[in-house]
Amino acid sequence: MGVKMERKDFTIQFGSLKEGFHDFKYQLNNEFFALIEQELIREGEVNVLLNLERSERHMSCNFTLEGWVLKTCDVCLSELQYPVKCVQHLHIKITDKEIEEEPELISVDSNAYELDLTNHLFDYVALSLPMKLECKDAINRKNCDEEVLEMLADSEDETDNSDHPEWQKLKEIFKN
Ligand SMILES: [Zn+2]
Repeated sequence: MGVKMERKDFTIQFGSLKEGFHDFKYQLNNEFFALIEQELIREGEVNVLLNLERSERHMSCNFTLEGWVLKTCDVCLSELQYPVKCVQHLHIKITDKEIEEEPELISVDSNAYELDLTNHLFDYVALSLPMKLECKDAINRKNCDEEVLEMLADSEDETDNSDHPEWQKLKEIFKN
């Protein structure tokens, strides 16, 4: 142990894979998230099972991801262990022809022998997260921080300017 994680740890050497089914396991941890230049996810622990079917000109990959990443609650800013659970599919064509790539369909040319999955794996984790992250869905918390919620409610009251003299003046203007 103590060996630093590298992209090659998430690279399939498909050149030497026999036709048929193969299973691969990956663990995405803080070192993995540091391999990619991004600010979205710094910490987490996600287990990935890849079930790959190799045929002569294709590879069909089914990924099952399960674990968590460290994020902040969008409501109260508490630190959350946010669950990651998803299934993704990737179809890889081995061809020298240009194909139109899609999120689930990519190609590699016929003299390639390896495929780096690092970015794909990261995208799967990132895409599994909802637009709004809240304590109620987290692993390490159930509810938002009451104190923060109260503070937010108070500051909302303060920014309510409807009684402010300037606001009254504006209202007068719009009336006419
Ligand atoms: Zn919260």
